[in-house]
Amino acid sequence: MSSNKETQKYYEQAIKVMPGPHSNLRAMASERPIFIVKGRGAHLWNIEGKEFIDFTMGAGAGVFGYSHEEYIQALKDQIDSLYYLVTGAAQTPMEIELAGKFVQHVPCAEKVRFCLSGTEAVQLAIRLARAYTKRPYFVRFEGHYHGWLDNVLGGMVDDNAVGRPFAVESDHDPMKTEGKGPGAFEQSLKLPWNDIGVLEKVLEKYGKEIAMILMEPITCNSGCCPPRSGYLERVRELCTRHGIILCFDEVITGFRVALNCAQGVLGVTPDIATFGKAMAGGIPMGAVAGKKEILDLLLERRVIGAGTFNGYPLGVSGSLAALRIYEKDNGAYYRKIDKLQNRLMNGLKEVSREHGIPMLTQGIRGVFFYMFINKDVAYSSRDLKELDVEKQNRFRTLLAEEGILIMWNGRWYVSGGHTEGDIDKTLECADRAMNRL
Ligand code: PLP
Repeated sequence: MSSNKETQKYYEQAIKVMPGPHSNLRAMASERPIFIVKGRGAHLWNIEGKEFIDFTMGAGAGVFGYSHEEYIQALKDQIDSLYYLVTGAAQTPMEIELAGKFVQHVPCAEKVRFCLSGTEAVQLAIRLARAYTKRPYFVRFEGHYHGWLDNVLGGMVDDNAVGRPFAVESDHDPMKTEGKGPGAFEQSLKLPWNDIGVLEKVLEKYGKEIAMILMEPITCNSGCCPPRSGYLERVRELCTRHGIILCFDEVITGFRVALNCAQGVLGVTPDIATFGKAMAGGIPMGAVAGKKEILDLLLERRVIGAGTFNGYPLGVSGSLAALRIYEKDNGAYYRKIDKLQNRLMNGLKEVSREHGIPMLTQGIRGVFFYMFINKDVAYSSRDLKELDVEKQNRFRTLLAEEGILIMWNGRWYVSGGHTEGDIDKTLECADRAMNRL
């Protein structure tokens, strides 16, 4: 075991050559740097030999935990047989097999285009929707995240907007960034989510200008808020009536919550959907899946969706391996997650009850939030305004000291790498962290 000095040494080297961690959003998670050298299952070890149980899981990409044998073997086989093929003309049969699995499982998927990240998938979806409808704007919602590019990142809802409700800049916006190009906020109308009245009014006025409604069907980036009863169904109806494309951003929910994804679980089929993270089990992949007539704009070359690495064999192979694991033994993977997550969520509720600290715990299979707020349910980020952010951050820091890593905003990812023993240990650590608050 090495000493704490090691971390300091690495930190000093790191800040000389890197502008922080390679994602600003990752930086939010680690006011104290942790340098990781090994991972097995749900466990990580830092350079000092300290062991952590990890619930950040590569921001949700590591659905099987670290060094999962079956998954790693599929990648190794691929490296042995075909490393590396990315050419203009050639494709592998694996791509067809992977697309076939999407079509088989995902309700909206008649065709699929692969790319490398969730961010890219969202941008392609926007371009396809604009081309298909020949309309300029899309609608997006408060508290939802769709990648880091100018046209989808940040901005506050303007509740007093006169005219089209474009987002506005604010210093209170955690996603505020300098360096955006002109007109970034004038590409979309930004609205509060889960409020059908607001959407109806806006569509009444501007429906004919709107190409697409973009949303996370459950707000996995802000509190895992569930849609209100009938909300998604009504949005679906409105889209059909106004000729608007409904896009579910399933970058988090896709394949994590079920083989038929959130759209299957919620029973509302969008026209198009975006994927990333869990679809490939830990290596970079993204996808846009949807109706044939929309995706075929790519075939007709009316829309360009390019990328040197699109459909790269290692990524396709990883995705195929991931989907095979999800399919195996009639969904054994999902049953395992349910069992672990139920124990963890119920255990955390118990811990907070014992400490007399009101906490809101809500989630969907594979991901949940544990939040310092006195509410039984939150239906949107508006319901989370009284969240005690300071306590939330302090709790996360104390948990890290106890050896438990969670995401910066109170989000926990449960993976196939976690065990019952990990959950027991986590609950003990949470109890101690609550004591130290
Ligand atoms: N959409 C959603 C819902 C996400 O949560 C994310 C990333 O967290 C993205 C899109 C962007 O994906 P990526 O980080 O792979 O570019």
